[in-house]
Amino acid sequence: MEVPVLVGERWVTPQVSGWSPVFNPSRGDQIARVPHCGAAEVDAVVQAAATAFIGWSKTSAPARAAKLFAFKTKLEAHFEELAALITRENGKTLEEARGDVRRGIEVVDFACGIAHLCKGENLPQVADGIDGVTMREPIGVCAGITPFNVPAMVPLWMFPLALACGNTFNLKPSEQVPLTAVRLAELFLEAGLPPGVLNIVHGGREAVDALLEHPGIAAISFVGSTRVAEHVYVTGCRHGKRVQAAGGAKNVMIVMPDAEPNATVRAIMGASYGCAGQRCMAGSILMGVGEAASQVRDQIASAIDKLVIGDTLANPKADMGPVIDSAARDRILQAIEMGVAEGASLVRGGKHEPQSGGFFVPPTLFDEASPDMHIAREEIFGPVLTMLRPRDLDEAIAWANRSPYGNGAVIFTSSGGVARQFAREVQCGMVGVNVGVPAPMAAFAFSGWNRSFFGDLHVQGTEGVMFYTRQKIVLSRWDNAYRRTQGW
Ligand code: NAD
Repeated sequence: MEVPVLVGERWVTPQVSGWSPVFNPSRGDQIARVPHCGAAEVDAVVQAAATAFIGWSKTSAPARAAKLFAFKTKLEAHFEELAALITRENGKTLEEARGDVRRGIEVVDFACGIAHLCKGENLPQVADGIDGVTMREPIGVCAGITPFNVPAMVPLWMFPLALACGNTFNLKPSEQVPLTAVRLAELFLEAGLPPGVLNIVHGGREAVDALLEHPGIAAISFVGSTRVAEHVYVTGCRHGKRVQAAGGAKNVMIVMPDAEPNATVRAIMGASYGCAGQRCMAGSILMGVGEAASQVRDQIASAIDKLVIGDTLANPKADMGPVIDSAARDRILQAIEMGVAEGASLVRGGKHEPQSGGFFVPPTLFDEASPDMHIAREEIFGPVLTMLRPRDLDEAIAWANRSPYGNGAVIFTSSGGVARQFAREVQCGMVGVNVGVPAPMAAFAFSGWNRSFFGDLHVQGTEGVMFYTRQKIVLSRWDNAYRRTQGW
């Protein structure tokens, strides 16, 4: 199958020379090929979006919400189909894929409230005889560039809210998982949304750079690695665009001696090995404080022994699937080798065990690592958990704050005072207390800090509405002198 681009209402196969394979990561076999678009294809979708903007931006907010509600109904009706498609091209388990779709639908729900979310403010008599009113207006043609690890949720973080605000949108999904994005767009058109309001191009750096440089694009939303997020932010800003760019992470989990053991281990297993560790909110550093350390290490080691690893489409009992491709597998195995070479103690995993041709990495646990080791500093983006043993809470927080990233950090404790100190002192934007993956739901912004986010206004929530709109203030003076002369 050749993955098409969407220009207005037309699905077309672009005439490009570069194509790359799309795999089923559980089996390692090719299931499609995706075109690598460049400036010409990007220009075509920008023109389509600019034409659609003329009508869509004038459509009333409730009418836009009604269309998005029809889209939500379509997504619900095709929920299982979308989840299966995500599992096929990404390799995560069906349960994880359902979460991917569900979290995305929640953003569409949120966007359906746009008539309320977009309201301005007013102050009658802001000066003598003058009333002040603010209104939020769409900014124009927007673009979104998304990563491979959440094929439905991340695109749905972006375009439903951008469109609800009256903009039009060009999506450039990850070239590793383009099929889910194409299916979302098909459902979008079936739901009766006007053609051109959402368009799709495919590819890698060339397509991204064409979007960043195109003068017809007003705003760029990006989610992916820190290296590319920084490039997108710098280049997009240089071309006069509004940019929000979410990057990578190295998230810390602290276990205190008073944590509830079973719930804590369940949460850590989900956070570290869920989606084979390929989540920007994955727990990748575990800090056991005091006597909690050895206990939690042993519990996690035995929980790893019970995990079923396998083909996520063929085996519904699989707890963990493959990583996205052979390059990711080799990079993760190399990081594990570095951990061993640096002297960390390998408790579980580490070795490549070929399985049905898929891209599998065993769930891996290190103990006795130091905060300066590569495995404790760098994002590995795979099923690798590195354990550190801080002396006390203060040292744990100090180590957590040495990270250049700032997505998530969590603590497991039954002490309110400990939780409060942690929440106040840890330097990152999304904090969990007895929650393994503190990824905010749609009403809140996805609030990465430091090198996990470049920009000002984050995706989702009311920050998303601010990002996709600009404010206008209208000052009005209406003089009543004429009426008085007429004696009305
Ligand atoms: P990636 O940065 O390799 O790719 C993301 C997007 O950028 C893709 O669409 C890709 O085509 C494009 N791209 C890749 N290289 C490029 C280049 N040199 N120039 C321009 N564009 C380029 O990321 P990925 O491997 O798809 O996803 C994993 C990363 O995304 C991890 O670092 C993860 O932490 C991060 N992520 C972050 C969040 C968040 O909210 N902070 C959410 C999900 C994933």
